[in-house]
Amino acid sequence: MTAKLNSHKPFIIPVFLPHAGCPHRCVFCNQSSITGISAKQPRRDIRKQIDAFLKFKSARRNAIQIAFFGGNFLGIPTDEIKHLLAEAAAYVADGRVDSIRFSTRPDTIDAQRLDLIKNYPVTTVELGAQSMDERVLAAAKRGHQAPDTAKAVQCLKDLGYEVGVQLMVGLPGDTPERAIASARSIVRLKPDFVRIYPTVVLAGSPLAAMYRRGDYVPLRLDAAVSQAKNLYRLFKRENIRVVRMGLQASQDLEDGSRILAGPYHPAFGHLVYSEIFLDMAVAQIKSSAQNAGSISIRTHPGNISKLRGIRNRNIEILKEKFGFELIAVRPDNGLAEDQLAVDRIT
Ligand code: SF4
Repeated sequence: MTAKLNSHKPFIIPVFLPHAGCPHRCVFCNQSSITGISAKQPRRDIRKQIDAFLKFKSARRNAIQIAFFGGNFLGIPTDEIKHLLAEAAAYVADGRVDSIRFSTRPDTIDAQRLDLIKNYPVTTVELGAQSMDERVLAAAKRGHQAPDTAKAVQCLKDLGYEVGVQLMVGLPGDTPERAIASARSIVRLKPDFVRIYPTVVLAGSPLAAMYRRGDYVPLRLDAAVSQAKNLYRLFKRENIRVVRMGLQASQDLEDGSRILAGPYHPAFGHLVYSEIFLDMAVAQIKSSAQNAGSISIRTHPGNISKLRGIRNRNIEILKEKFGFELIAVRPDNGLAEDQLAVDRIT
């Protein structure tokens, strides 16, 4: 259940292009809040950013990708796309970087733009689908529809690109049922990976005004975690990698002025995994018929903190629920990453 999400994770060199190529502002979005980079900042000189990141690359050789994030890459004027890709491609040509990736809107995937990128070493394209429910897409003012996403994923897969899809929970008009139905639609498209983001109210976003007027109520953190968990399980069952859950924590987000409300947590993904492990532990304890005294739960060493939960919360919940005096958590290399074993301590 908790597969090695990061086992072949590339080393990403992010080049943030806040709102570059955006046709308009989607209600939930303010990339300057997320990235701390002004949308007005000149973006032609990307070499400094790339060089600075390359210094952090350890000797361990993961694939290295230059990633254009934070905007709608294929919505940028053609000359600038070519310039950015050529700059990045030079690093691939000299062997310092392996490939390029970018995020873009589904409705930018067309024959002309695919033709434009085909001679550059782009391997991965992330599509901001956000939802497959037309009501939610309209309320978020996305300006594209679900069939745009379906068509885009198919085109990219046909051309051999690795395809990622970004999904959100808690958008205006969204419900747990619509979110899971969206995820099922995405599963049918068989992307290579997904990202799941809970909707937060970012300062300066149109959603902030809706929130202040009382027209939007964000999800509570526990509800967002629970929805993300359900989506994660669905994708996992279908062997679709979930590469991230929750916004990337940063000092800019942590200072509190950029997020007005909503289920932001710097370790959102960890909360989701912890809940998954809590569910697994409950099921395992029930099936082992242990209901008193002291037990130990064994798990793969990489999962100890997920099993414990933040500040040992899962262990406290399990003790209270089952009346155990003591629960010891023990690492066991022999267990698969999605396995737990419960033993009585005598
Ligand atoms: S969600 Fe994407 S397309 Fe919409 S405003 Fe943000 S960066 Fe632009």
